[in-house]
Amino acid sequence: MTGLADISRLLTEKGMARYGAEAINQHDHALQCAALAERAGASEALVTAALLHDIGHLTADDEGAALRGIDMRHEDRGADFLKPFFSENVTEPIRLHVVAKRYLCATNPRYLNRLSTASVNSLNVQGGPFNATESEVFAAHEHSGAAILLRVWDDFAKDPTAKTPPLSHYLDLAERVLSGPGKLILVVGPSGAGKDTLIAAARDHYAHDPHFIFPKRTVTRPCESAIEVHDSVSEVEFQKISENGGFCLHWQAHGLQYGIPNSTARAIAEGRTVVVNVSRGAIEAAQARFHHVEVINVTAPREILMARLAARNRATDGGLTDRVNRDIELPGCAVVEIVNDGPMQHSIAAFLDTLATTPSAHPLKPNPHLFHQP
Ligand code: FE
Repeated sequence: MTGLADISRLLTEKGMARYGAEAINQHDHALQCAALAERAGASEALVTAALLHDIGHLTADDEGAALRGIDMRHEDRGADFLKPFFSENVTEPIRLHVVAKRYLCATNPRYLNRLSTASVNSLNVQGGPFNATESEVFAAHEHSGAAILLRVWDDFAKDPTAKTPPLSHYLDLAERVLSGPGKLILVVGPSGAGKDTLIAAARDHYAHDPHFIFPKRTVTRPCESAIEVHDSVSEVEFQKISENGGFCLHWQAHGLQYGIPNSTARAIAEGRTVVVNVSRGAIEAAQARFHHVEVINVTAPREILMARLAARNRATDGGLTDRVNRDIELPGCAVVEIVNDGPMQHSIAAFLDTLATTPSAHPLKPNPHLFHQP
């Protein structure tokens, strides 16, 4: 579940209907707003906010509500819909773009005269211009500047003849924002290789460094180890969390379900480095969801793996030979290999070195589109 698939569907299906009483549809309005933001040199987060500022109109059927005098709070609905995926740099300008209109009407007399008739009608439904105190409170808000810019692009993005780059261009951009400047480090390798021990050591090492996050996984298995503490849930509970979009990544292995909570995606969006133990089969899904993914493959010779698994004697491990003999191809990606067959402190040192030296920024995709305005 990427979130962007749903967003794309909303814009290309429901978004083709007319945008209230305006002369264009929601899809074109969204593209024009994003294009104005991009042309103004806005951050990718703010361009994404411009693209998605009215998504709340599409997540519920509020067509014509403003004309009937009903405020459906599309700004809150949209911001809340996007909150599991995007940082506040995207969601809060969206949440504030309606009150930004009330602020601009109160503080800039010429602004009110420029509004379309539909926008004047919705202003009245939304509470009219701010009073002096409300204006002061709004101006002090961390995201008010971005919301005002978004509001102005919103007002101009209603030109039936304007040409813009295609939706795919802005979805690529939104995907980069969604993925965030942080990175996801996947620790993979056969059972018994020592992944959990290495991760536990790194978690202790970085206990006071908020840049590193070691999320607790959700697993349909009781918690049997003090080293790998996870949220233990039933199959039914797992399914429910998954259906509600609670995981940014989930997979199945050895008859068990594993999930990584959505807070991980938010941490990456905030620029943090997330380190998590995943099945090798989950790498491709992670690469599809996040832009900056590193893989650390922890291995050990077969006889060492067998001995460790036998000593662990965990009922849910299943057949030891099966687990050790599983030879899974790693998908095409840069992989750092740590052979954990000697003293544990050597492997821990190698693991910490790798975490400290993986590159921290993903190169942005080139922008092949130019903005054209007639
Ligand atoms: Fe709008």
